[in-house]
Amino acid sequence: MDISIVVPLYNEAESLPELAAWIKRVMDENGFSYEILFINDGSTDNSMDVIKQLAASNPAIHAVAFSRNYGKSPALNTGFERAKGDVVITMDADLQDSPDEIPELYRMITQDGYDLVSGWKKKRYDPLSKTIPTKLFNATARRVSGIKNLHDFNCGLKAYKKEVIKHIEVYGDMHRYIPYLAKNAGYHKIGEKVVHHQARKYGTTKFGLDRFVNGYLDLGTLWFQSKFGIKPMHIFGLLGSLMFVIGFMAVVVVLILKIIAMNSSTFNFWVTKSVYFYLSLTAMVLGVQFFCTGLIGELITRNSAERNNYLIAEEF
Ligand code: UDP
Ligand code: MG
Repeated sequence: MDISIVVPLYNEAESLPELAAWIKRVMDENGFSYEILFINDGSTDNSMDVIKQLAASNPAIHAVAFSRNYGKSPALNTGFERAKGDVVITMDADLQDSPDEIPELYRMITQDGYDLVSGWKKKRYDPLSKTIPTKLFNATARRVSGIKNLHDFNCGLKAYKKEVIKHIEVYGDMHRYIPYLAKNAGYHKIGEKVVHHQARKYGTTKFGLDRFVNGYLDLGTLWFQSKFGIKPMHIFGLLGSLMFVIGFMAVVVVLILKIIAMNSSTFNFWVTKSVYFYLSLTAMVLGVQFFCTGLIGELITRNSAERNNYLIAEEF
């Protein structure tokens, strides 16, 4: 099979017939063998009935329905597990992404050799309250992830080599950072294609402004995981040692000052009134905490089922 199209959806009943017909038209025109995987993320409208009707007249349509709304990432992950095509395309269900982009995305994966091609909604049809924070968000994501050539990490329209999606796990809200996940799994050939974007025709957006807060927190998690995920002691041990050294130096200062004061009749020194005393206390307590966090982290990694999952590029 040439292409699997994974479509996560949450209450998008009005858009689905148009989307399915459009995809079918593009696939037939280009002679691709394909499947459409609709992942119904706990819709409360009649999306499922619509999908069933569509599937009755098109055997390429398949669906998975969650019992409740889990989020876009779990929906994508489920689609990825089931996808059978050599190239896997994800697109939003709201008709903001155009199926006409699929042939070129397919070509970039199969002929130009990209592992992943991300869409770039260069000209967006979204409110300013969304486009401006998005620019900031992408600039940060570029810096932290080191993927310098991407302008639109969170674009719903993306194409992947099948191998890539079988080796990443999209959980939580990590769909915003799939290129980063792919890079951390060892897939470096990441490209970009400018894609057409349309204003939402039916329904409303499913993400509020909290997307930006959560987005930044997730970026922190991913950065930490990729740097210290399997060696937490390298960071916590370093911080702990640093704190300990600072605390120890402060204790020495306190001791010296106290000894001088005891042997002098003019110079007074009260330990509990000294900044150094408080510095030594805080630094040592923090130091021990960092160390223990690191140790516990190490124990957790030792027991993780994934600790030895290395992706092997070649083997004879
Ligand atoms: N979506 C989903 N589960 C959710 C939220 C969204 O499957 O919990 C789907 C939604 O139906 C759409 C895609 O993810 O197909 C992108 O959502 P939306 O268009 O609301 O995001 P925006 O374009 O505003 O970033
Ligand atoms: Mg949308």
